[in-house]
Amino acid sequence: MSRFWSPLVDTLKPYVAGEQPQMRDLVKLNTNENPYGPSPRALAAIKAAADDALRLYPDPMSTKLREAVAAHHRVKADQIFVGNSSDEVLALVFQALLKHERPLAFPDVTYSFYPVWCGLYGVSYREVPLDGELRIDIDAFPGDCGAIIFANPNAPTGHALARAEIERLLKAHPDIPVVIDEAYVDFGAESTIPLIAAYPNLLVTHTLSKSRSLAGLRIGLAFGQRDLIDALERVKDSFNSYPLDRLAQAGATAAYEDVDWFEQCRAKVIASRERLTDSLRKLGFDVLPSKANFVFARHPVHAAADLQRALREKAIIVRRFDKPRTKDFLRITVGTDAECERLAAALKEILRWNEGAGPR
Ligand SMILES: *Cc1c(COP(=O)(O)O)cnc(C)c1O
Repeated sequence: MSRFWSPLVDTLKPYVAGEQPQMRDLVKLNTNENPYGPSPRALAAIKAAADDALRLYPDPMSTKLREAVAAHHRVKADQIFVGNSSDEVLALVFQALLKHERPLAFPDVTYSFYPVWCGLYGVSYREVPLDGELRIDIDAFPGDCGAIIFANPNAPTGHALARAEIERLLKAHPDIPVVIDEAYVDFGAESTIPLIAAYPNLLVTHTLSKSRSLAGLRIGLAFGQRDLIDALERVKDSFNSYPLDRLAQAGATAAYEDVDWFEQCRAKVIASRERLTDSLRKLGFDVLPSKANFVFARHPVHAAADLQRALREKAIIVRRFDKPRTKDFLRITVGTDAECERLAAALKEILRWNEGAGPR
């Protein structure tokens, strides 16, 4: 606590992002980045945008980008909101749509940034337990909450609900905002974007950080009817009118136009995920079925913290969430096949060492 701080600052419990270490020959499987680079067309567009026009402010509405995204998802451009990362879009969503007299509801295991924004904006919340297999149970959301948010596929479990299940949730809670965070949807789940036309309370968020390999450019999106988008625009224009710079707008627009690149990269990641799941199961891990670009895996004998530490010594970084229901799991990003093979070989060695004459 400093005497210069606003009182709120002392109460915050900031999100801790996965580390970005600068190690040589590192296998980085901890923050769900895409192992393949962005579309070459996106890179060319970013380079072309680096010109004299940078002295001018960018389009505050990112019109071209919203038009490209609208064409891709078959919605209207005015049903799309864009921001500087989906974390920023979600922060605006918490302020604009999720603070009500009754508490916000989200699963006890989901994106761990949600409670952080609740702290920042003073949103009261209630955690709804996942079922015994760590799946979201639609029927467990209380009838008296003020809003609902979760990730689908969920993080860090990778479990995805079918669109019909989410439609059932929307029907059961027609009078409160329901936000579906689809950061990983392109890796095999059903998007709820086609439901926005019928459900005025549905807001869907996307990011270009995962399936479009642009984590470094920071672009996020929200989809919904005008009423919801209007709320986001009002808050955005009370905060930062130009969230996306010229390079980001140019690169993101080209990334949406390059459908082939997107399809190829996500197909490769999906295929590698299935191979990684198989090889972890052969090593004795319980691996939850995943529709994301990561797997959530637990070994029945070896503690996840020990495995994480031993992997780190071999320059392989994976993520662990030190909460009661998740502490026994490793969250492993799907890398290239070569990276996944290096991980499996390292684990094989570590498990043998632990079982044999190792010092533990
Ligand atoms: C990665 C992620 C985000 C944030 O994406 P950015 O656009 O990189 O900020 C949001 N929600 C979930 C569930 C994520 O995993």
